[in-house]
Amino acid sequence: MEKRIEFFKHNLTEEDIDLANQVMRSTFLTTGPMVEKFEKKFAEYLNISDAVGLTSCTGALHLALLCHGIGSRDEVITTPMTFVATATAIIEAGAMPVFVDVCPKSGLLLPELVESKITEKTKAILPVHLYGRMADMKGFSTLAQKYNLVLIEDAAHCIEGMRDGIRPCQLSNAACFSFYATKNITCGEGGALVCKSSEEAAWYRSARHHGISKNASSRYTKRYEHWDMEMMGWKYNMDDIQAALLINQIDRLDANRKKRQYMEIHYRQLLQDIEGLDFIEPPDDSEISGHHLFTVLLPKRCSRDEVMHTLQAAGVGCAVNYRAVHTLTYFRKTFGYKSEDFPVANEIGNRTITLPLYPKLTEEDVKMVCETLKKIIHSL
Ligand SMILES: *Cc1c(COP(=O)(O)O)cnc(C)c1O
Repeated sequence: MEKRIEFFKHNLTEEDIDLANQVMRSTFLTTGPMVEKFEKKFAEYLNISDAVGLTSCTGALHLALLCHGIGSRDEVITTPMTFVATATAIIEAGAMPVFVDVCPKSGLLLPELVESKITEKTKAILPVHLYGRMADMKGFSTLAQKYNLVLIEDAAHCIEGMRDGIRPCQLSNAACFSFYATKNITCGEGGALVCKSSEEAAWYRSARHHGISKNASSRYTKRYEHWDMEMMGWKYNMDDIQAALLINQIDRLDANRKKRQYMEIHYRQLLQDIEGLDFIEPPDDSEISGHHLFTVLLPKRCSRDEVMHTLQAAGVGCAVNYRAVHTLTYFRKTFGYKSEDFPVANEIGNRTITLPLYPKLTEEDVKMVCETLKKIIHSL
């Protein structure tokens, strides 16, 4: 039996698991002191005033839009080259996602392309830091100021990044993060939102928990106090078990990012002379990317399904990030999109495959993945 290379392996340590065990042996499982500790540490890491622990990035995006008054009849400009949640969060908020095609080199939304699509109805821009590389937040923030728009970052791929000296949330109204199973830090399912004022953070803390005035631990640890529901809220609160799993992973963010960066450079070198194979451009030397995913664009003559199935059969995990959102059935049926409407995203979406990239991956693993892929492409 050949060696298997998983698509993803998480990085939870015995220390992380012990901390989660401590929570499970204590009285409180849900939102309490661990969540508070996580929020402080996460905000400190990002050097931003406040972080709010949530159950998902989707919930974070939804709340960020609501907090800034975005709802029915509003349009939010975003990218079709992302996970569906970026667009569905806009729909959940009652607004209309408006896609703008991406840069063919980076796969990122570009301020200059977005500007031409701004209308009277546009209320917000929602860029995604695709694969870990930050979108041009300086450019987007200039646009947001010029047209008085809300700016929200889908930073599910990028906790660690910096571009033009700017980090997530520094120039936007909110940045949203995911701790889903395959993300750079994970607790299975989870998310966070960071923002720049304690007043906003207080609104998010209420909104994540039914709009109720007191959280579970403040209601039950002291003398019973009545709670009130003061505003409409949702059920997005992170619990203490999730927070315990995450807390110490924050300390390892930068070391793990460097390991992924190293492996990505290695991949690019080993794959550089396969005819017809294309790459998303690497980040500039002046940038820090989260190096969340490494993708390649298969030669146009190859059937992606055939390559993927053969890779998997050879023991190499792979995935697709992403088929362009506007080509998915719900979006085609609901909004009448055709694949050609956003040709760049459509082409990336049809040719891309994601190769394994995580800190536990070894150079030998990368070599084996590359040799296997090369053999498959040459045989087709
Ligand atoms: C994973 C992901 C999300 C959704 O995150 P959840 O925590 O699963 O809600 C949103 N946007 C992007 C770009 C993602 O990769």
